[in-house]
Amino acid sequence: MGSGGAAPEKARSTLAIHGLRGAVAGKEILRGIDLEVSSGEVHAVMGPNGAGKSTLSAIVMGKPGYEVLGGSVTFDGHDVLALPTWERAALGLHLVLQYPIEVPGVALDDVLREALAARGSGTDGVDALLGEEAARIGLEERLLHRSLNVDLSGGEKKRMETLQLAVLRPRIAVLDELDSGLDIDALRACARRIEAATQPSADGEPGLGVLAITHYNRLLAELRPDRVHILVRGRIVESGGPELADELEAGGYAAFSADGVDDVASADHPRPRPTPGSLDELFTT
Ligand code: ADP
Ligand code: MG
Repeated sequence: MGSGGAAPEKARSTLAIHGLRGAVAGKEILRGIDLEVSSGEVHAVMGPNGAGKSTLSAIVMGKPGYEVLGGSVTFDGHDVLALPTWERAALGLHLVLQYPIEVPGVALDDVLREALAARGSGTDGVDALLGEEAARIGLEERLLHRSLNVDLSGGEKKRMETLQLAVLRPRIAVLDELDSGLDIDALRACARRIEAATQPSADGEPGLGVLAITHYNRLLAELRPDRVHILVRGRIVESGGPELADELEAGGYAAFSADGVDDVASADHPRPRPTPGSLDELFTT
């Protein structure tokens, strides 16, 4: 213990993904992913529709229906792939869902109390913390006490997701398209709250490490990534600094498609059609 002043900083955490190969419905989608995210770092993963971004987040958290074909995922040395999802969460891994699930009959405050209890954290003061965090991200407090996500707008759902992260204080969070389905005000509120979480806290906790899956630079304007990775057909074909996201937005995805993208039978790997006029078009070959 220090003699007054700031608490000593606790050890940093690292999520390490090496050579990860994964399949869904019998098709190989991830074809060798290498990524390491440590406390306080923000890594962005950008890529076209169907590249495997959600598959990556699903395999890291252990969503049923995804098959690991090879490689490893570790969290501070723990073999993540051998653990059930709740134990991954208890270690400090967190997923912000692209499409938050509606759960009739279960309220967010109950979910959070159970989650905190399951990881051995006390629940004293949770109500006050919830109120404070809801106000901070512009979420109406009454939404915390009714059925989770039911009938909420896209922006409210993503604020609910962000609130969970703020209260549970995971060590590493994967954000699967935090920016889909919400307006610019909600995006800014959520991104700023998460960015604040990446700073070390006064009680000595290291900052949150973030793996932000996104199509949009505007999320990255708030989250300010240290590294940007471009995922194409299940492989990271380019990694660089934040300027890579600017290049992608300016030049489109075609500039990166030649590199490292040998062909995986695209006939049995259909691409979703982009919404006309959307940024998805940018990512379409
Ligand atoms: P992204 O998030 O990058 O848009 P996904 O990881 O969702 O891509 O999907 C990658 C590929 O895997 C796509 O071709 C998609 O159709 C396929 N896929 C994803 N989930 C399933 C599933 N549950 N069943 C069958 N195919 C799936
Ligand atoms: Mg996706």
